[in-house]
Amino acid sequence: MSRLLVLGNAGIDLLCPVPHLPRAGETLVADGQARAPGGKGLNQAVVAARAGAAVQFTAPVGRDGAAEELRAILGAEPFAGLSLLPQDAPTDLSLLMVARDAENCILTLGAAADALSVQEAEAAAAGLGPEDMLLLQGNLSFTATEAAMRAALARGARVMLNTAPLRWDMAPLLPLCALVVANAGEAESLTGRRAAAAAEALHRAGAACAVVTLGADGCVSAGAAGHHHHPAQPVAAVDTTGAGDTFCGVLAALLLAGHTLPAAAKRAQRAAALTVSRPGAFAALPSAAELRALFAGVAA
Ligand code: ATP
Repeated sequence: MSRLLVLGNAGIDLLCPVPHLPRAGETLVADGQARAPGGKGLNQAVVAARAGAAVQFTAPVGRDGAAEELRAILGAEPFAGLSLLPQDAPTDLSLLMVARDAENCILTLGAAADALSVQEAEAAAAGLGPEDMLLLQGNLSFTATEAAMRAALARGARVMLNTAPLRWDMAPLLPLCALVVANAGEAESLTGRRAAAAAEALHRAGAACAVVTLGADGCVSAGAAGHHHHPAQPVAAVDTTGAGDTFCGVLAALLLAGHTLPAAAKRAQRAAALTVSRPGAFAALPSAAELRALFAGVAA
């Protein structure tokens, strides 16, 4: 069976409802706290595994209690393999403050993700073969990301890159990618263009295929098969956090399973609509049962 290696970040999200967003110098008392696993790598790996792919999830973490917390939670997910690689840095943490007017403010600590070495990235990709795919995001360093991509390509595997978060110049990596997925803001930052023109520009910059997601407006793709607009599934949006991760996880899983891009994008957008229809990030990701029902419904 083809395998999907998701090499990316994993951390803890600490969600704190607050009366208002903090002002300079203020000590703010939160209304409460909730902890959940988080990180784009983690979310995409979980969704892809729940979508039926044989996922190996490899992520840098600290040597601390938070890493053990993640190991316990991720042990319940249907991964083919899980490697949490200890780094000399604390496990990544994001503090999400959500005010009563729904405005939010996020502080992210990503030292563990930054610490993954080139050697660890190459070793992670060493087991890939021509039937396999590597999925990466922007949380690791440029050098580790590039090393993993080149190691995967040397073994004949395909590379998919989600450009979030856009922290360093991704342009040099585009020619290494079979598929690039960027949201509207990332695509505009990378290309200076919008929507379909941005997808076309990412393709011309070297990505074999590029998808630009447009929130409620769906997504556009550009590649050898030309340009296409793929409409979103209409939904009453409650919280869009995690939409991009759900989209990428399902898309990777279904492309690996042999679906065409339009077929995979249609299902990925239905799954993302489900995430958008409920609050939270990890808590809002679709379950394996929901994805099975969704896929069966689309096929019918
Ligand atoms: P996020 O950072 O909020 O997780 P993103 O910015 O990476 O998301 P978006 O373009 O907002 O990505 O959304 C990804 C996909 O999710 C869209 O292509 C669409 O299919 C779906 N989606 C997002 N928002 C909505 C919405 N309001 N209604 C329906 N579908 C949506």
